[in-house]
Amino acid sequence: MNVYDSARMADVLAPLGYVTVDTPDGADMVIMNTCHIRERAEEKVFSALGRLRDLKVAGGNRMMIAVTGCVAQAEGEVILERAPYVDLVVGPQAYHRLPELIARAHRTQKSVLDTDFPADQKFDFLPAAAAPQGVIANLTIQEGCDKFCSFCVVPYTRGAETSRPAASILAEARRMVLSGAREIALLGQNVNAYHGEGPDGGTWTLARLLRELEKIPNLHRLRYTTSHPGDMTEELMVAHRDNPALMPFLHLPVQSGSDKILAAMNRKHKADDFRRIIARLRDLRPDIAFTSDFIVGQPGETEQDFQATMALVRETGFALAYSFNYSPRPGTPAAALPQIPDDVKNARLYELQAELRRQQDEFNLSTVGLTTPVLFTGAGRKPGQIAGRTIYAQPINIQHPTPLAGEIHHVKITHANPNSLLGILQKQESLAA
Ligand code: SAM
Ligand code: SF4
Repeated sequence: MNVYDSARMADVLAPLGYVTVDTPDGADMVIMNTCHIRERAEEKVFSALGRLRDLKVAGGNRMMIAVTGCVAQAEGEVILERAPYVDLVVGPQAYHRLPELIARAHRTQKSVLDTDFPADQKFDFLPAAAAPQGVIANLTIQEGCDKFCSFCVVPYTRGAETSRPAASILAEARRMVLSGAREIALLGQNVNAYHGEGPDGGTWTLARLLRELEKIPNLHRLRYTTSHPGDMTEELMVAHRDNPALMPFLHLPVQSGSDKILAAMNRKHKADDFRRIIARLRDLRPDIAFTSDFIVGQPGETEQDFQATMALVRETGFALAYSFNYSPRPGTPAAALPQIPDDVKNARLYELQAELRRQQDEFNLSTVGLTTPVLFTGAGRKPGQIAGRTIYAQPINIQHPTPLAGEIHHVKITHANPNSLLGILQKQESLAA
């Protein structure tokens, strides 16, 4: 979502004459778009700011430094105290006001802080996306969250759950396709809770929106992320069977396999609910693969609770998963509880990640020998290679003289590296282009 937000900020600033550059050296303005989900992300912000200060001083203090994103939202005043050379601190709901905030900082020669949750919806005020994102594009359809999991800072930094009206999403998707997108990932902190106003005046669900997006010519692939198990409705699960553009690959964070910990996390679902969803989706779409998120060391987690997570992982089998040590976030309920020692968390994370790594390798290896449609995105890393994505979003490289960007071709997978695949083009006859 921060990648998408950064692109939208570039769009807002384009009419003022700003263009994006590749390095901060000599830039008129540097925007650091930040994440607050774990402590380490936040610490990175301050060390990176220190490096920017040196650049700013070297350039005669001309460079404007802005901090945006969830660290800006949560730590606004602290940033200005710890890094007084920062000119702008802007929360995620105020990006449409950037031009006015920049003008104010120039005018007053003082730092400007805007971390309000304004009554006006930023999406109504952001300009139509200008810069094309490429063959694979992100599109935010929902923001914020009302679920208040006890570990999570999102409801405090991104605010209440809001869904964009379907008409503006459809218009943006059409523009993306016109500028070359062939795959769109719909984004939201809690994307499957989407309930936007439909053009027919009714409330549209994510499944309804997906049905409409599928009608857009040349939009071949759809994904959505991130989902909460509690919002995996039957209608949405059936969409995985009925909507051919919807890729058979779902990111569904479960966090823990222990019902006691899931209750402590305020997740409002049990481990068996997750099992039922996985079974139903496998029933509807037998080739579907899953990814998930896990937290180890939530306050109160015993070895037995952790082993329940391990059991759920072994029995489910994931194509990929993200796992983290619990990180206390200021102001969240779990942060106030007695904490699990770091060495215990580290040992559990090590055990979990070893199993998840094994499953990821096993999954990638299981695709070797298959012939599968690949959406090509452009040049690969090595000379003579071109890159693409499989239906499971695995990066894949093949030797080919022309980039084939935006085209889908059958590729035989020949080799699985830890994070990417190699393959051979089967027939250069575009399945969809
Ligand atoms: N909405 C999604 C859900 O319901 O699971 C999760 C979105 S959250 C922005 C992304 C991931 O960050 C979570 O799934 C969780 O695993 C991780 N995360 C969030 N807060 C965390 C914390 N305090 N410590 C460690 N990991 C955390
Ligand atoms: Fe955070 Fe997801 Fe829980 Fe919302 S549902 S509070 S985004 S973990």
